[in-house]
Amino acid sequence: MNPEVLLSRIRVVLCRPSHPGNIGAAARAMKTMGLSSLYLVSPKHFPDPEADTRATGAVDVLARATVTSSLKEALAGTAFAVALSARQRDIGPVLGAPRETVARLIAEAAGGDVALVFGNETVGLTNDEILHCQAAVTIPTNPEFSSLNLGSAVQVLCYECRMAAFLEKPPVVEQGVTPFASPVATHDEIEGLYGHLETIMTDSGFYNPEQPGRLFPKLRRLFGRVRLEKDEINILRGILASTQVKTSHGRKG
Ligand code: SAH
Repeated sequence: MNPEVLLSRIRVVLCRPSHPGNIGAAARAMKTMGLSSLYLVSPKHFPDPEADTRATGAVDVLARATVTSSLKEALAGTAFAVALSARQRDIGPVLGAPRETVARLIAEAAGGDVALVFGNETVGLTNDEILHCQAAVTIPTNPEFSSLNLGSAVQVLCYECRMAAFLEKPPVVEQGVTPFASPVATHDEIEGLYGHLETIMTDSGFYNPEQPGRLFPKLRRLFGRVRLEKDEINILRGILASTQVKTSHGRKG
């Protein structure tokens, strides 16, 4: 199924968010990953200029957000909902890992709308809210500091959704710039560089062909590590040629 359609079927539900800035951050997180369906259950302040500011280019997601007074209403029409929780509750679905659970969410999205349900910044999700969901997820964190900012938690999950919807290979942004590339240098061109180096180093007195030592094996090892391009050979030989001119001028003088 078309990945974009799958992503459009994922509702991001924020339960009782206190800070409008986090609503804006969530909208931005969603749009960067191709999600657009935002549900707000009893937000403390919405609409709010702070939400618009934090959303930046994603104010369209805020403008289309659905505000409800209960989670039940926000989940109407969905067949699968995942609760996001930093901690296991004694009752409620067992906490799973984001990747595995999102794989299931995407599979369910092929059949219709699904939801990711996030809690309030201070108290998280209530047990009752968690019991409206069929699965629960915790984002693995530093065990000593496990609570993500709400907008950050939305970003992590939306990223996983995008990766799963596009089977781990989402299209990358077309920059319109072709990276510079020169054809790779051929064996004879590289040998030409070594020959040139040998001449210059002999002329300068750095290298004594009577006592070669391991200089050339080492230089071959050095240049062998990089895949030299024709253009680079030309630059290096240009530099060598420029010192040759100097040296011969010197000799003349
Ligand atoms: N103090 C709250 C956390 C609030 S953070 C608590 O202990 O539950 C706001 C929301 O972000 C949480 O309700 C949850 O939906 C999400 N969140 C934050 N950190 C998370 C984590 N490590 N794993 C999963 N969800 C997380």
